[in-house]
Amino acid sequence: MNNFNTKSKEIKEGEFIKNLLQIKDKNITIEKTHNEIIKNNQKLFVFKGTLSYTPNKCECCGCLNKGYTVVKNGFNELTRINLLKISGIPAYLELKKQRFKCKSCNKKFVATTSFVDKYCSISKNVKFSIMSDLADTLSFKQIAKMNNVSINTVIRTLYDCKSHVDITNYSFLPEYLCFDELKFTKDSKNGMSFIFSNALTREIIDTVDGRTEYILNNYFSRFSKEARYNVKAICIDIYTPYMKLIKSKFPNAEIVIDRLHIIQNINRELNKTVKLMNCFKGQKGINYTLLKNNWKLILEDESNVTHGKFFFNRSFRSLVTSRDILDYLLGLDCIFKASYERVQDIRYAIKYRNNTLLSYLIDESTSGLSIGVCKAVNTMRKYKEYMLNSVRHSISNGSLEGINNKIKVLKRVSYGYKIAFITLDYVF
Ligand SMILES: [Zn+2]
Repeated sequence: MNNFNTKSKEIKEGEFIKNLLQIKDKNITIEKTHNEIIKNNQKLFVFKGTLSYTPNKCECCGCLNKGYTVVKNGFNELTRINLLKISGIPAYLELKKQRFKCKSCNKKFVATTSFVDKYCSISKNVKFSIMSDLADTLSFKQIAKMNNVSINTVIRTLYDCKSHVDITNYSFLPEYLCFDELKFTKDSKNGMSFIFSNALTREIIDTVDGRTEYILNNYFSRFSKEARYNVKAICIDIYTPYMKLIKSKFPNAEIVIDRLHIIQNINRELNKTVKLMNCFKGQKGINYTLLKNNWKLILEDESNVTHGKFFFNRSFRSLVTSRDILDYLLGLDCIFKASYERVQDIRYAIKYRNNTLLSYLIDESTSGLSIGVCKAVNTMRKYKEYMLNSVRHSISNGSLEGINNKIKVLKRVSYGYKIAFITLDYVF
């Protein structure tokens, strides 16, 4: 009786460790004791376990196990399996796997478990942990260290994830799409890669290495005609190959220029205009210092520059508001002022989605504007229809912009790795 009690306690302790290690497979039993060993000055936990069961059939010939067709045939060599760290200490499971022999085909095979993949020494728990770490912005090195695995294991796990996101269905596309470029170059054929997503759900559909018309035409030819004809609108940056592609492959889709890109473009030209004002450099007076310190004010949305808050300005030697400074700067040059006002008006029209105003501003004469802003307005005029679409439709590439930012951060944290295509998959 006493003996029986001890045994049941032993099993219970084994079960307790098994729960701690998160081993869900019923066929694995864990010994109640574990070893602590020191390897390379590092303490390690080593647990011992046995995998055994009665198989339903032979894995080699498939014959059912009726009346001892398949018998147990000793154990295989110990398999050492990486576990998740316990209290910061790396842990392993030394698993004895049952070997079976089939009397029907005379072959031998080894017990399998859901806890670890065949021929693999990393437990699935560790793999899930790596996958979850991959979703954060960490370097491979950090993830490898956290999970007590090699960097190659992290990369391999990443590839396993990738196979789950690869497109297999080419007969469907969402009605609204976003096209954008991905900026991480080096390993990409054309310096830029292409990414597209569902504009409404923001889900990424796929990425393509390169973004030339030829590459993209080839890529989208894989999708069925029905899928492509189903697309109603596509949000893009001002990039002619996209426009040509959309016309030939997506005849029912309206081209929408991304609002953010329009604003970025005209703002960039306005910024160049600000730089032209460097002629004040070397001149006496406060103009140059004021421009140098407040150029951001000029690129700001005008409605944010207010008379709200007073602060002391050393150039003026008095209390001013940011609006005072802006007004002073605009008074310096009439071309500069006209350019500023046109850019702000366009931004206003886009912000409040005012179709009529935007149309008017695009068509209005560009005389009296700086060369750069003039150029930007002329580009808008060239693609006026698409520009107006951008205020008619609510779709934008905002979510894809976020991805480019994430890649930037990843590139910074994963220094030492120039495997750009891995960085690409990493995002998903
Ligand atoms: Zn067999």
